[in-house]
Formats: sequence, C-alpha cells, structure tokens
Amino acid sequence: MLNTAPAVIAIDGPASAGKSTLGKKLAGKLGYLFFDTGCLYRAVTLCALKREIPVTDSEAISSLTAALDIQVTQPEVQDGRQYTVIVDQIDITWDLRSPETDASVSIVSTFPQVRNILTQRMREIARAGSVVMVGRDIGTVVVPNAPLKIYLDAKIDERARRRHAEIITRGEHSDFEQVIGSMRSRDLTDSLRETAPLRAAADAHVIDTTGMEPDHVFTAIKNIVKKYSS
Ligand code: C5P
Repeated sequence: MLNTAPAVIAIDGPASAGKSTLGKKLAGKLGYLFFDTGCLYRAVTLCALKREIPVTDSEAISSLTAALDIQVTQPEVQDGRQYTVIVDQIDITWDLRSPETDASVSIVSTFPQVRNILTQRMREIARAGSVVMVGRDIGTVVVPNAPLKIYLDAKIDERARRRHAEIITRGEHSDFEQVIGSMRSRDLTDSLRETAPLRAAADAHVIDTTGMEPDHVFTAIKNIVKKYSS
C-alpha cells in the first residue's frame, strides 16, 4: 500500500523532535532516499570552525559554502550513523554533532546566501523524487509544493532529554543543562530568523510527539502516508 506514496515527503520541526529517526525509518519502508538537510548546515559550520572563520562573518561563510564539496552517502560503517558526510576526503559525520557545531549552526543558518546555495542543492535532490527530506523549512521554502508535509514537535524538556540520552549512548559526556540551554537558543534563532524561519507549513500535518513512544509516532505517520498513497 505504501509503494505509491508521494514522491517527496517533507518532515520539519525543531531539534530532537524525532524527525531523523522517523524519517529514516519511513524512507527505509518506502525504499526512498532519506535526506537530512541539517547535515549541510552543520558541515558548513564545522568547516568554518576548523578554518577559524568567525561564524558571524556572513560573506566569508557564504564563499565557503559555495566552495565546499559536501558528500552525503549511505553509511558503510555500522556505528549508529544514519549517513556518512565527507568533506575534503575526511569523514566528519560525528563531528557534525559536537557541542561546538550545535552552538554555532543556527547563526550560520541565518545567512540568506548560505541558505540559497544549500536550498538549490536540496531542490536538486527533491527533483529526483522518492525522498523523505527532513529539516526546518522543507515544507515552507525548499519544496513548498511537496505533496505531503509533516511537522513534528515536542516540549523542549523532552527533546533535551532525548538529545542528552543520545549523546550518553554514544559514550560521550553530556551535561543536561548545557543541552537544554543550547537547544533553547537554537530554537529561538531558528524560529526568529528572517529567511525561512522554522514553522509548520499551513498544509502540514502537525504531530506533537511529547510523551509518545517512537513506535506510536511512526504508526501515526504511516497512517498519514497511507491516506496520500494510491
Ligand atoms: O536538524 P539539525 O538539528 O541537524 O539542524 C541543525 C541546524 O541547521 C538547525 O538548528 C537550523 O539552524 C539549521 N537548519 C536549517 N534549515 C534546514 C535544516 C537545518 O536552518 N532545512
């Protein structure tokens, strides 16, 4: 029933609302590509930090974005990753999740020129079809005519608990107060920026996942997809 699903499924929402886990699972079920657009913004941010470009320098960061060759591929390593990201032949997949990247990525994402370049890349991927694309502005800006849009949300305490647990599971140190503080600030910057702010598209299916088990959220998503499938 699900193999005639819409060509592009857009999933938006704030950090740790479950977009990636559920999007990846849905893509697997449908035989679709899973594309997490946040990894592009993260890759630009990480490369800027490594090259000691101030993250407030919009011109320098826009030039960097235009020059970077960011490769996103299927994972070959089984270490919990959902995809592999390579820049300059270096696997930066896990570095993308560092607290330093978390702290700066929302600033980099406010720059219209950076968004422009990365949005073009996302649109090329969407044009090929059979993709579950997750991010902040997929349903509103990147693919506003996507046939199916889902917006996943959850209370910040729960999202921060999920992120905290995720970091600890990876065997890294995590401080809950730091996680929730950084998430709160990222939510604010993402929602208040002028270009493509985080918000649900008017025609998105909004699901509040607070207190819901991932399996229940997935069932809810599958039911929505079924309605859009022929
Ligand atoms: O989804 P993730 O947490 O990896 O996204 C990291 C950051 O990238 C977000 O906080 C946001 O600033 C930016 N982003 C964006 N638009 C997207 C995807 C991510 O602005 N479509």
